[in-house]
Amino acid sequence: MVRQRTLKTLTKAVGVGLHGGQRVELTLRPAPPDTGIVFRRVDLPVPVDIPVSAQSVTDTRLASTISNGGAKVHTVEHLMSACAGLGVDNLYVDITAEEVPILDGSSASFVFLLQSAGIELQNAPRRFIRVRRPVEIREGEGENLKWARLEPYHGYKLGFEIDFAHRAIDSTGQRYEFDLGAGQYSRDIARARTFGFTKDVEMMRSRGLGLGAGMDNAIVMDDYRVLNAGGLRYDDEFVKHKILDAMGDLYLIGKPLLAAYSAFRSGHALNNKLIRALLADQDAFEVVSFGDERQAPVGFAQPARAW
Ligand SMILES: [Zn+2]
Repeated sequence: MVRQRTLKTLTKAVGVGLHGGQRVELTLRPAPPDTGIVFRRVDLPVPVDIPVSAQSVTDTRLASTISNGGAKVHTVEHLMSACAGLGVDNLYVDITAEEVPILDGSSASFVFLLQSAGIELQNAPRRFIRVRRPVEIREGEGENLKWARLEPYHGYKLGFEIDFAHRAIDSTGQRYEFDLGAGQYSRDIARARTFGFTKDVEMMRSRGLGLGAGMDNAIVMDDYRVLNAGGLRYDDEFVKHKILDAMGDLYLIGKPLLAAYSAFRSGHALNNKLIRALLADQDAFEVVSFGDERQAPVGFAQPARAW
């Protein structure tokens, strides 16, 4: 049986929020089978749980924000991406502010945290959402065209293409495909950082956002070049970060996907529309589990591998 997974023990991190710049404590705790991933705002007078789901996403400007009533958590996508990459199904995420700490701007620190705590196999079948028919969201035309698509695939792979018309970005790889069964998330994707432009940071700060942003948690560019002294971590770090984001955004559906995702200039908003469109079409997906591990896609039955 391909089993659900949680952590062996709890683990903690402290960091700052990218936009609010506030200190945030994060505690990741094991959760029973079928819990899913549940954020808990422990700083509120009465703690509020925010279980992740496609419908829990209430804002996709700058980052993916989830809500339950008035309680919110911003910038959940990098932690969600690490959970998708390592196959963590059940987790409590206790948080002391309304924003997940940005740490180094990638998901590498979350991968390190999850791996340090250790992955525990649970006595319940892992349930996947298997895409049965293509679903696509397309917006804009010409220079503004963007689209995202899910298609049937026995496994999980993501192909992404970016087009920024910026010298520093266009000189790098614009297209990348990552297959979770064949690649290694922690090596191939997790270290890719978020990126931004100095003019956008200045604009955000004038609106009270981006207060925690800096070169230690983002690739920062002016109109011509990357300003970080260390340069890029991957030659194609930009497009890899878009895949990292997409894995987090799509995992907000609440279950691992069996699908091929492909996208052109997609972002948090389009990714969320895509999973909502999938769920709205009963014939486009089914929920499956694997009693016999040999029926599962290659790589999905071996939790010990260093994803
Ligand atoms: Zn991101």
